[in-house]
Amino acid sequence: MIAGSYYLTPTSDNFFQLIPLKKILYSKESKYQKIEVVETNKGIALILDGLVQIHEDDEYIYHESLIHPTLVSVDHPRSALIVGGGDGCAARELLKDVDIKEITLVDLDKDVIEVSKKFLKKINEGSLENKKVKVVVGDGRKFLEKTRNKYDIIVIDATDPIPSGPSLLLYSRQFYEIVKSKLEDGGAFVTQATVFGSNQYTRIYSTVKKVFGSAICSHSFVKSFGDDWGFVMATKSGKIETREKDEVELWIKSKLRKTPKYLNGETYAANFSIPNEVRKKIEKGSKIIEDSEALRAKTSEASGVWAFEK
Ligand code: SAM
Repeated sequence: MIAGSYYLTPTSDNFFQLIPLKKILYSKESKYQKIEVVETNKGIALILDGLVQIHEDDEYIYHESLIHPTLVSVDHPRSALIVGGGDGCAARELLKDVDIKEITLVDLDKDVIEVSKKFLKKINEGSLENKKVKVVVGDGRKFLEKTRNKYDIIVIDATDPIPSGPSLLLYSRQFYEIVKSKLEDGGAFVTQATVFGSNQYTRIYSTVKKVFGSAICSHSFVKSFGDDWGFVMATKSGKIETREKDEVELWIKSKLRKTPKYLNGETYAANFSIPNEVRKKIEKGSKIIEDSEALRAKTSEASGVWAFEK
């Protein structure tokens, strides 16, 4: 929401942040969501339904944390599927891996894709027009249900499961079962999983673990999301473990076309370090998310807008 010369956006619980606004570059209600592209004091931001999706200032922390730990866990990944990711930044990171030959990106909203081609080209480095990237407009779940293809990497880079949002059914046991069936042997899966340590996060973790046999938590602080952001990773085989720092450094040198801005052996290890309070929560386990009662962010009583519980 625009508040004078600031953009006001909810983060978690009843927390909000005010981002200094320079210019509104685009604002339109699409078939699925309100799309805004704004220029802030720290660069361009894409905002959907009032929530920051990417901000030039620190989007690389989110995207490198989402993509590279997943890539490093697969030997010679050739194919990748992104569900969501219409901004093109997850595809940009996948394209840095010398082994990746083809990426399919399925985003529901053609307007997000068009807007990202126009306003975010410098940020996504033209990934949406790269010949290795096939862009499909459609629902990611329906696409996965129908496709006969299998992928080495499947990434869920969708909007948060906000009430009546288009991504609710991308965070459930039934959906993760479809994902698992479309992974190649040796393949890996990662999903963005909302605010690290929140009840939603631990429910996503428990649900992924139930389907894949085991799962691993990671997180990195993304200032523009106003919080420590969570990810959950799993593999088709059910075995998943983190790599040693040196191994990650070596992988970066030998497999990536460009040195990451955020990720190295140390930050990789930091992403996988879990504080005791979260460890306790995930060890205890949370309620599995079923399609019939898809995960919902709670509407905050104080502010009247949705918010994630912590
Ligand atoms: N980095 C982001 C974040 O978590 O804040 C995600 C960014 S990306 C722009 C999110 C995309 O998910 C949006 O473009 C939206 O259209 C897409 N999306 C939401 N539900 C979807 C669905 N069911 N199938 C495919 N794409 C979906």
